[in-house]
Amino acid sequence: MTAPKSTKCPTCKGVAVKDGNKLYPFCGERCQLVDLGRWLNEEYRVPSDEPATGPLGTDDESSS
Ligand SMILES: [Zn+2]
Repeated sequence: MTAPKSTKCPTCKGVAVKDGNKLYPFCGERCQLVDLGRWLNEEYRVPSDEPATGPLGTDDESSS
């Protein structure tokens, strides 16, 4: 068989080893999280039909 044991990490384009890598096709946890973050951002970009200002208010969310 000529199946490659490594491939390109979709996040950093580095080498991602397949064998025993539960994070495959990512090279590491960091790259997996980065990709997951991108994916979530896409999800959040859905057209919002909810009011911009909710009754709860998020003013205490300010962090410097
Ligand atoms: Zn990577």
